[in-house]
Amino acid sequence: MERRRFLLFLVALLCFAGLLEASPGDADPVYRACVEQCEKTGCVGDKCFQHCNFSSEGNPIDGPWYLQEPLYLQWKQWDCRSDCRYHCMISREEERQKLGHKPVKYHGKWPFKRSYGIQEPVSVALSALNLAVHFQGWVSFFILVNYKLPFRPNKKTYYEYTGLWNIYAIFAMNAWFWSAVFHSRDVDLTEKLDYSSAVALLGYSLILAIIRAFDVRLEAARVMVAAPLIAFVTTHILYLNFYQFDYGWNMKVCVTMGILQLVVWAVWAGVTRHPSRWKLWVVVIGGALAMLLEIYDFPPYWGLVDAHALWHATTIPLTYLWWSFVRDDTEFRTSVLIKKKK
Ligand SMILES: [Zn+2]
Repeated sequence: MERRRFLLFLVALLCFAGLLEASPGDADPVYRACVEQCEKTGCVGDKCFQHCNFSSEGNPIDGPWYLQEPLYLQWKQWDCRSDCRYHCMISREEERQKLGHKPVKYHGKWPFKRSYGIQEPVSVALSALNLAVHFQGWVSFFILVNYKLPFRPNKKTYYEYTGLWNIYAIFAMNAWFWSAVFHSRDVDLTEKLDYSSAVALLGYSLILAIIRAFDVRLEAARVMVAAPLIAFVTTHILYLNFYQFDYGWNMKVCVTMGILQLVVWAVWAGVTRHPSRWKLWVVVIGGALAMLLEIYDFPPYWGLVDAHALWHATTIPLTYLWWSFVRDDTEFRTSVLIKKKK
């Protein structure tokens, strides 16, 4: 009964994900006109930006020849755009606040106030902490597997999923690294890197969930699980980067992949006799609750802490517990396999 209720809750989550749309802030014609104007003139009201010294053809008005390199020009254009977006957003939000309107999102994000040039200091710090916890978890897993547990006669580990968890650690640390970069400065490039890394991590962890929960040990069967998912995730990343950066669609893809892996782990935690299955339960329930924060997104308090930042905070203890489960799983599988051999 309990399990059925939990699954219903997950299905409800999935339905709400269908209601999500792209950000209304950047669809606002006043904001759009402001950014367009700013990219031409380099000014919002009486504030002007040094990165926007462009003539209408996109050539810099001044500066020596070496500053006219295409790469540097592009970088400057990115910076100009991000300054324009930021100041247009702040001025638009001030106008809206006077009219008594609630904050809206711009380009998938709430209007944050920068501090020391960092856009979302809280999210940056939390992303860095997530990265650190993953690194610590991975190192302890690595030490356990390579120095504490016995090897098979062919010098391989008894645990069948060692390589998969090592790759997982790399995907996870990569994603948190780009998350920290993106939250400190939101430009097209950092945004694409962050979103792409997050999608890659979600896709890979879904593959890992299926392979571990269903105990897929045959190489051919693993390929059959992984290939369609890798194809889908790759297509999705290419679509985001080179065709259309669609926040609403990306959110649906991410939430669906996230819920699918939670369901896989939850079902497994329900049927397995694994000694550490309670850790799985905590991570699954905690992960589902944390996902609610990502879905029932609220605007930042004091221009600093929003639902997304809190979501990054909740993943820290969950990650710690997660790697502790991985270590338990390693010891459990190793002891089972050694017993079988004797
Ligand atoms: Zn983030």
